[in-house]
Parts: sequence; structure tokens; C-alpha cells
Amino acid sequence: LFISFEGIDGSGKSTQVSLLADYLRKTGREVVVTREPGGSAGAEEIRALVLQGDPDRWSAETEILLFTAARRDHLERLIRPSLAAGKVVICDRFADSTRMYQGLSRGDLRETVDTLHNLMIGVEPDLTVLIDMDPVEGLKRAKGRMGTEERFEDFGADLQAAMRAGFLALAAQFEDRFRVIDGAQSVKDVSTAIRHAVDTVLSI
Ligand code: C5P
Repeated sequence: LFISFEGIDGSGKSTQVSLLADYLRKTGREVVVTREPGGSAGAEEIRALVLQGDPDRWSAETEILLFTAARRDHLERLIRPSLAAGKVVICDRFADSTRMYQGLSRGDLRETVDTLHNLMIGVEPDLTVLIDMDPVEGLKRAKGRMGTEERFEDFGADLQAAMRAGFLALAAQFEDRFRVIDGAQSVKDVSTAIRHAVDTVLSI
């Protein structure tokens, strides 16, 4: 079972990823927790190339290639082998983040993102948990938590709002695999809602 988590910065993804992993491990499943960009040695190197340093180093198109290269490595080295071994893979962000961030934030490049995805990745999660969050609240949380080493935290509230709307539109487009969870609830209530969503998929 392949589960991805999506949402704007500060939506609480990382916390919920580890809570879900704890829960699934208690039910006796082997769980691999991973993240994007990154998740394999090569992909983590690409993450550093893209998220650190001068934001204008790469063109928007080159950045899409780098994110896709990172995902391809992650898929080959970690995700596919883990799924083949019967493990549950929980990934903090996957291709939907590229559809949103690289597809929206530096012009309308969604078609380029989708074309490359179809060519080089071609895999979607069985379940995508979207933690929907008010951007102003999310930004507050993200700024409180993040260091200064990665550049994307500078996204302003307008872009966060566009991302939120974009993620909700994506959830409507891929409604079979998406579950939208209200991130304004308490950590406990969000995690309960996610468990229910996962239990439903596991018992199918
Ligand atoms: O999920 P996490 O907070 O670790 O992501 C790190 C940063 O990278 C985020 O601020 C996010 O906006 C950015 N990002 C991106 N494009 C992606 C994935 C993440 O710009 N495809």
C-alpha cells in the first residue's frame, strides 16, 4: 500500500505521517516512512541542490527535471522495492506536490509536469491524504518551525492560498485516491480522521 501526504507548508503533514506510521506498526505492518524531495541517497542530494542556495540558480523547467529525476531515483531505490516486499510506504509529498509547486508557482507548467510524470514516473499512490489548512495559519506554523537553510519558506500568503485552492482542485480531479482532511482540527482529531481513511482502504 502506497500512501502519500500532501498539503501546504505548515499543514501538519510530518506530525501526521509519524502518527499514522506508529498506528500501522501497532497493527503489525511493516512501514517505510519517506519524503520528497528526497527519500533515497541520490534524491536527497538533488533536494539539497534544489532547496538550498540561490533560488534563481535553476530555470523553472530545469527544476521540474530535477524534481522528476529525484522522484525516479526514489521510486527505483526505495518505493518500488518496499512495495514489492509487502511494506506500507508513507511518503511526505509525492507527484502532486510537483503538480502544484513546479506546475503553478513559476508560471503555468502543469502540462510539462504531467508529461514528464507520465514518461518517467507513471505511478500514483493508492491513497493521498490532503491535509487542508488555512494558508495564514499554515504560514504561521511553518515559520515557527522552519530554519533558514531551505528557501521555500519565503512563499507568501498569496501563493499559499493559490496552492491550497490548487490542492483542493487536484483532490477533485483525482477523487478516487484523495481524502481531504480538515487540518484546523486538533492533532488528535486529524489523526483519527486519517486512520479512518486508511482503515477503509485497507479493508477493501
Ligand atoms: O514538505 P517540506 O516542508 O519538507 O517541503 C520543503 C519545501 O519544499 C516546502 O517549503 C515546499 O514548499 C517545497 N517544495 C517544492 N516543490 C516540491 C516539494 C516541496 O517547492 N515538489
